[in-house]
Amino acid sequence: MKELLIISGKGGAGKTCLTAALATLVAPCVLADCDVDAADLHLLLKPETQKSEPFYSGVMPEIIYDRCVDCYRCYSLCRFGAISILTTHPRILADACEGCGVCADQCPEEAIVLHDRHCGEWYMSSTPCGTMAHARLHPGAENSGKLVTAVRQAAKAAAEAEGRELLLSDGPPGIGCAVIAAMTGVDAALIVTEPSLSGMHDMKRVAKLARNFEVDFQVVINKADINPELSDEIAAFCRRNDIGIAGTIPFDPLFTTALRQGKTVMEYPDSVPAQAIRQIWQHVQEKLL
Ligand code: SF4
Ligand code: SF4
Repeated sequence: MKELLIISGKGGAGKTCLTAALATLVAPCVLADCDVDAADLHLLLKPETQKSEPFYSGVMPEIIYDRCVDCYRCYSLCRFGAISILTTHPRILADACEGCGVCADQCPEEAIVLHDRHCGEWYMSSTPCGTMAHARLHPGAENSGKLVTAVRQAAKAAAEAEGRELLLSDGPPGIGCAVIAAMTGVDAALIVTEPSLSGMHDMKRVAKLARNFEVDFQVVINKADINPELSDEIAAFCRRNDIGIAGTIPFDPLFTTALRQGKTVMEYPDSVPAQAIRQIWQHVQEKLL
């Protein structure tokens, strides 16, 4: 089984549309939506949830008011302003709490207990393209890297149990903890970029990250014809740095039309984007996987 990660270094470059299109092309496969902060692969693949599990990470304090003597030591020591004393007794402000545990450790009455923090859910679902592992992180919740790891582990287990040859992962944007969690140990990656200054800048950053993690990768230039000069500049950068280009996809309003209808462009098999994506997949099979 091979794991192919689709990343972009930034949001909006087209990685989710490409992931869904490739899934439609190679089905059945197993999918992992590792963009847990803003998951949207489900909008295109319409999963039916088979299993749901809570995701816990870090701790959340609770004040046991029977023991509290209102000394406000917890309020004085909390560096995150996460304890309010505007009410009769101190109160934890969950959204501001970083879960450091200092208040519980320092309460002279042992009136603060720490609970596991419920940060979201992860799901196993069936889609027309195969089993999909995905998740929903609660707004403001931390540790998306840990949740990405849980999603990947669940997807890998499903791929092995079902004997699938391909695990397709839709990666998170950026180059932070969640991307590192999605990238570590994959067989190959596709970096989707677009010919804009920010697209090129973020492609370079995530390419450097992939090199550091010794991940084989190639670049896909999406909407390549909206700025041919910048597309040429991206191609020249790739040549200079010995980075392969898996292919280019021209701009086509069909992407937006398909998105509005909750479809992938592969459902329009004779369209120009569908032909470009078929060529990219052939290239990926021959040169990357
Ligand atoms: S430190 Fe403990 S006893 Fe003091 S106000 Fe906070 S919870 Fe109450
Ligand atoms: S766990 Fe840390 S951040 Fe949260 S209320 Fe206690 S001291 Fe403040």
